[in-house]
Amino acid sequence: MKTEVLNIENLKGDAAKAALAEAGRLLRAGQLVAFPTETVYGLGANGLDGAACAKIYEAKGRPSDNPLILHVADRAMVEEIAEDIPPMAEKLLAAFLPGPMTLILKRKAVVPDRITGGLATVGVRMPESAAARAMIRAAGVPVAAPSANISGRPSPTTAASVLRDMDGRIPLILDGGPCRFGVESTIVDCTGPVAVILRPGAITREMLTEVLGGARLDPALVGANVTPKAPGMKYKHYAPRAPLTLLEGEPTKMAAAFRRQVRQLQKEGHTVGILASDEVCAALADVIPSELRKPYGAQGDLSAIAAHIYEALIAFDDTNADALLGEGTTERGLGLAIMNRLHKASGFHSIQI
Ligand code: AMP
Ligand code: MG
Repeated sequence: MKTEVLNIENLKGDAAKAALAEAGRLLRAGQLVAFPTETVYGLGANGLDGAACAKIYEAKGRPSDNPLILHVADRAMVEEIAEDIPPMAEKLLAAFLPGPMTLILKRKAVVPDRITGGLATVGVRMPESAAARAMIRAAGVPVAAPSANISGRPSPTTAASVLRDMDGRIPLILDGGPCRFGVESTIVDCTGPVAVILRPGAITREMLTEVLGGARLDPALVGANVTPKAPGMKYKHYAPRAPLTLLEGEPTKMAAAFRRQVRQLQKEGHTVGILASDEVCAALADVIPSELRKPYGAQGDLSAIAAHIYEALIAFDDTNADALLGEGTTERGLGLAIMNRLHKASGFHSIQI
């Protein structure tokens, strides 16, 4: 299959209108279309068509027990797929949607069994991205979409990275430029008495607490030895090809700690790559060539870090690095989502400095 990439960055232009119409036609015909959102690129199918959604699992190599999130353009589409919208979900809708958040709600029977992994619930997401909502409207149906990567690999935040994993597997990629946030949506379970965060994202625990008066973290997120409530969170994820080890601790001591680790690994014969702050990358310029240093933003600039980690991890696959070191950051605010992804990408290999 030939994979076409159509640019829709200028949403008002004729080219984008034609591309969105083509995406809508393909989706209604049961085909897959990759599209930009404010979090990461999604791999979409008609969310009410079980056979179309089956193609997502096939293209990604995704385990069949891992449910898909349904993307909607408006409130009417939420009501089409959710059995009810409890008061907690109403508050979140009013405060944060459209935006980078997914609500877990009781599902209606129109939602195909194929995509719920056997659960009585459905994940509902109304993206902030105007391009994503325009595509959903063009399709006229809720669009099922996981991240547009091969399962287990880092999520793509550019059309080029989608093409890398999906070339030849899908007919169309819509290119809307790089994603603004760069980490997947915050997943909030709204089916119980209190909101539970199943996956941290750009809508932070602190923001949820302000609106709801409280929000719990799924115990599986804080290292407890329990099965996560979001089935996908149990899988190895976001991993580059070379093994990644994280260095965590005091920012001012990072550069020296990196230097020690790099020396040791190089002595053992490794080609070392580093994913770290601008500061640490600059400090190690004498021991690591520039193509093996991937700066992710200034220390503590969480928005910049979130927006760059996946592309940096993917870029290491084009180098000869066989050992990667990553710099950890705070777990406050957006840092919780960043560290959740980095811990998974490293298989929980961390060194406290
Ligand atoms: P991705 O599709 O790659 O963005 O990942 C979607 C995440 O949402 C996975 O971790 C899924 O397991 C999770 N998810 C989707 N639907 C549900 C649901 N109904 N209940 C709990 N988690 C869900
Ligand atoms: Mg994913």
